[in-house]
Amino acid sequence: MSAPLVYLNGQYLDRSDAALSIDERGVYFADGVYEVVRYFNGKAFTLAEHLDRLKRSLDGIDLAWDADAIAAISDELVQRNGLTDARVYWQVTRGSAPRNHVIADDLVPTIYLSAEEAQTLAGDEPLATISAITTIDDRWHNCWIKSLMLLPNTLAKTKAAKAGAGEAIFVRDGRVTEGGATNCFAVFDGELYTHPANRYILEGITRNVVIELAKSLDIPLHEQAFSSADLPGADEVFITGTGTLLAAVTEVDGKPIGEGGAGTITRQLWDAFVDRVRSDCGVG
Ligand code: PLP
Repeated sequence: MSAPLVYLNGQYLDRSDAALSIDERGVYFADGVYEVVRYFNGKAFTLAEHLDRLKRSLDGIDLAWDADAIAAISDELVQRNGLTDARVYWQVTRGSAPRNHVIADDLVPTIYLSAEEAQTLAGDEPLATISAITTIDDRWHNCWIKSLMLLPNTLAKTKAAKAGAGEAIFVRDGRVTEGGATNCFAVFDGELYTHPANRYILEGITRNVVIELAKSLDIPLHEQAFSSADLPGADEVFITGTGTLLAAVTEVDGKPIGEGGAGTITRQLWDAFVDRVRSDCGVG
């Protein structure tokens, strides 16, 4: 559930008092970008990486705004809401103007942040498991931009939910790209595969942490796309994301993956991920 206070354009407000203009370009055109950042023990995890990606996304849509300011706002929002373990949503939209496709030069961006309580990693948190469906990836070709234009993702995730699954895995030209709100990894013969960070996926911050951990654990890793036809035969599949953290995919399109539980490499990476969070954020 969302925490009571949000940040909007310079003010910390009660959620019910926060309002946007009807002419907001974020509403008309999904003209904006966003980030979701995890806090553990009151500290933002991988803050520099999120800031960096926000800047790349802003550049990607030609929105000039000094993104560095957002870190202090985010910390203050977490504190004002009395949270320690939280998920914080950052959104930068182009601002408000009468509806016109052409972007005017004099727009003032709209900055909105909200926070919600999230799971701690201070105890003995088990690795999550999830089932997934595959679905056609019909998104645009700039998935590296963390754009607000998430209609294909919401439709795909709704399709998954209606099928009783937790995630939709996108397939473009026969290859697995990523999940509706996650990146996707598979293990074949003891080696880890994930789609390369190009324009067809969002380069997940969690993905990159997991890649680093896999390298440090000497798990052979290929940033190479794999065929969706091979997915049911994978030994292990898992997804990563700031919200999900890491979850073992136990079933795809109704077919079990491996033994139908979390595999050895997935568990190894989860343990390493928890250690990394704890040491970075001073948990425990
Ligand atoms: N891919 C998509 C499409 C996403 O929406 C997300 C997160 O929202 C991810 C991947 C995972 O990225 P991150 O680990 O930075 O949260």
